[in-house]
This record gives sequence, C-alpha cells and structure tokens, in this order.
Amino acid sequence: GVRAARLRSAELEELIRRDPRGFRISTGDRPTGRLHLGHYFGTLHNRVRLQNLGVELFVVVADYQVLTDRDVADRLAEHVEELVLDYLAVGVDPARSTIFAHSAVPALNQLLLPFLSLVSVAELSRNPTVKDEIAHSRRSAVSGLMFTYPAHQAADILFCKANLVPVGQDQLPHLELSRVVARRLNNRYGGGRAVLPEPEALLSAAPLLLGTDGAKMSKSRGNAIALAAGADETARLIRGARTDAERHITYAPATRPEVSSLVLLTALCLGRDPRQVADDIGGAGASALKAAATEAVNEHLAPMRARRAMYAEDRGHVRRVLREGGERANAIAETTLREVRAAMGTLY
Ligand code: ATP
Ligand code: MG
Repeated sequence: GVRAARLRSAELEELIRRDPRGFRISTGDRPTGRLHLGHYFGTLHNRVRLQNLGVELFVVVADYQVLTDRDVADRLAEHVEELVLDYLAVGVDPARSTIFAHSAVPALNQLLLPFLSLVSVAELSRNPTVKDEIAHSRRSAVSGLMFTYPAHQAADILFCKANLVPVGQDQLPHLELSRVVARRLNNRYGGGRAVLPEPEALLSAAPLLLGTDGAKMSKSRGNAIALAAGADETARLIRGARTDAERHITYAPATRPEVSSLVLLTALCLGRDPRQVADDIGGAGASALKAAATEAVNEHLAPMRARRAMYAEDRGHVRRVLREGGERANAIAETTLREVRAAMGTLY
C-alpha cells in the first residue's frame, strides 16, 4: 500500500523534475469547511511546489461531493469561497493554475455515465475509504452517490487528461478506480490508442496526518487545526491534543501514533527530520513537545495566514478566480467529452 506508493513517488519525482511540462495535475477538496494541516502537508504543499516547478495544475472544488455523507450541502457558497481563500493563501496561482467548482462543469457529470458503465458494483462497494466514510456519515441512509462518487472523481481527474494526482492516503482506492476507468475505456473503445491517461498518485511525507484525537485529521471530525486558525486557537488545540503516558518523547508512528504525529508536524514545519526533533525534546515530555509544535506551526503558517486575510478583503477576486477557472475547465471538459463519445461510437 503506502510503502509501494512511496517507492514509486521517488521515481515519479525524478521524472517530474526532468520534464515538468510532461505532467498535468488534477486534484481537489470538498467545500465542507476550512482546510487544515492534514490537507496542507498531505496534498496542498505538493500542489503548490509542483505548480512552481512548471507542472500545470487543476484544482476542483468538489461541491457535489459534499452530498455523499450529509443530507444537504450546508452554507455551500460560503464554504466554496473559504476553500478558494485557502488555495490562494497557500500559493495556488490562478494566473497559472485553474481553480473551478465541480457544479460549474456539466461535462463532468456526462462523463460519469460512461465511466460508471466501466466499473462493477462489487468494485464500488469494496472501496475501503467509502466504507470508512459510511461509518462516519451524518446521513440516516447511505445514498447511491456515496458508492458512485469515486467514479465522479475519476471524471474530475480524467476530464483534463491529468496524469498526476497529489493526494492523501485515503484517496489511493479512488485513484486506483480512476486508473481502472481509463484503462478499460482505452481497451474497450480506444482500439489500442490511449484516449485517457492512467493517472499516478503522488503521496507526500505525511499522507495521513492525525488530528488532536489521534484519528485522521478531518474537517468533519472536529479534530483539525485549520490553516486559517489564529495563533491562540492553534495553541489551545495543540495543548488539548491526545498524547500517551510515556514521558520520554520518541518518533515511533506504529506504536505511538499521537505523539509521533505531533513530532512529525513539528518536523514538517521546521523542515527537519522527525527523529531528530524527538531526540531534542527527549525527556522534556509532552508539554515541551506541544510547545515546540505550537511555535513551529504558528511560525510556518504566519505568512499564509497574512495572505489569506488580505485576499479575504476582496471577495470579488475570489469569485472572478472561480468564474474564469470554470470557463477554462468547461472548454477542456467539452473537448474530452467529445473524444470519449467519438471513441465509444455514440451518435450525438
Ligand atoms: P471531510 O471530513 O469533509 O471529508 P477531509 O478533511 O477528509 O474533509 P477532503 O476534502 O475529503 O478533506 O480531502 C481533500 C484532500 O486532502 C485529499 O487529497 C485527502 O487525501 C487530503 N487529506 C485530507 N485529510 C488529510 C490528512 N489528515 N492527512 C493527509 N491528507 C489528507
Ligand atoms: Mg474526506
């Protein structure tokens, strides 16, 4: 699983470095709340880094996907704008990259139909991430969208023929489904031609950052430290984070997940090795670790928080970014849809 993906990541990085323009990224997030440190170190950091290397970047605000695990998409317009503010704050550059909302691009839904024909019900229902999300769902009944959204996500990736997807670990089963869709479409209808590429997942050094309760840091689980949180709020959240009874601090993700997650967070913010960070704190214990984590996070996020506050003053800009991104994404999606239809021999 993750180990194999990591090995592939090193090779991928080398290929990207040699030919950044040979790669195109598509990836996104659900507008369900402010982005957090899990997003940042799991995927956002990679998106911006690769954008700055010259890789073309598409970022989808997955608004339809909000309905997978809740009955209504609450305060949607507000969450969409917050998400775009987070993107701008971390350095996604709308002059080079495309930020768009899923619902602004109807061709994505039209791609869903042929894509669904290429996967089996068994494949959709054994997806471990879907199972986990059903377990945490706020809905009374599990919707059809819960099982089919990974195919929807394949459209978010394949519509622009993206071949690279920087994501957290929870997304690996979905990425695998996107690869299956592309492969089967090419085999069944492409006549040996690659109509769509098989996208590669790119995992970061923190593909599964834990939240303050020791479970996956997640917008919906109340255990996250938001990028936009204030310095005091950050300090309070980290102070309340779960640790363990052992005083001496070590970096041992398998046996001490909560402590190790705080060590990793500190190390990522400082650009250091987590083992060294743990050694430095050593017998000073959890409170020293929390103080170090708080300082490192607040310092690392300060420039992003300042940029975010600046962009928040100009909502017109945020809406313009989305509108222009939507237009670009639509033009590309229409072209791909035409190609897919032509390959399938559809009449209209
Ligand atoms: P929600 O609770 O609404 O599902 P989320 O916090 O899980 O929100 P998503 O919008 O589902 O966030 O995920 C967006 C991207 O961020 C995905 O690529 C996902 O893998 C990544 N990501 C989310 N949480 C983490 C985490 N804790 N560690 C690493 N990557 C993460
Ligand atoms: Mg999620």
